[in-house]
Amino acid sequence: MAGEIAHLPIALDGPNCPCGTWGCPARYIGRQLRLHTAGLDRFAETEGGEAALAELDRRLRAGDTGADAALETAGHALGAAALRVAALRVAGVTDAGEITLGGHLATWGERLRPGLDARLVGRRALAPAMHPLITFGVLGAEATLRGASQTCRDALLDDPTSVPIVPPAPVATPLP
Ligand SMILES: [Zn+2]
Repeated sequence: MAGEIAHLPIALDGPNCPCGTWGCPARYIGRQLRLHTAGLDRFAETEGGEAALAELDRRLRAGDTGADAALETAGHALGAAALRVAALRVAGVTDAGEITLGGHLATWGERLRPGLDARLVGRRALAPAMHPLITFGVLGAEATLRGASQTCRDALLDDPTSVPIVPPAPVATPLP
C-alpha cells in the first residue's frame, strides 16, 4: 500500500473502505461518489462503472450543465475533505514539491482546480514554501502500464544478464 495516497485515512469515523480501513480519501473522491453526484447511479448499475464514467465524460464535453455542476461540487469536496489533507500530509512528510493526480481526476483536472485552490489558499498564504504544486497527469489510462513498462525496460538495460537464457526448443523431425 506504500504510496497509495488515496488510502491514507483522513477521518476517524469515516466510511469503511475496501482496503481494510476506514475514512480513506478514496471513499470521498472515488468513482461511486462522482457518479452519484452526477446522477449516474442507475446508469452505472445497468451499464457498469467504466461506461458510466465514459458517459459522465461525454456529458461534460457536450457542455451538460448538470454534469459540470456536479464535478465542480466534487472539486470543492475533493479540496475540502480529502485531497487537501492527504496532499498536505504527504507533502509534510516527504517535502514533495509537486503532486500529480492521475486517472479521471487528471482528465477533469481543470474543472476540479477551482475547488482545490479555494481550499489550499489559506495554507499557501501562511507557508508558501510548504504547499506542493498540484498538477494533472497527461498519460490517461495508460499511465500505470507505461510506468511498469519503463521500469522493466530500465531494469533490463541496467543488467541485460538478468534475463535468463532459455535454450531453444528442440525441432521436431518428421517421421520417415
Ligand atoms: Zn482505503
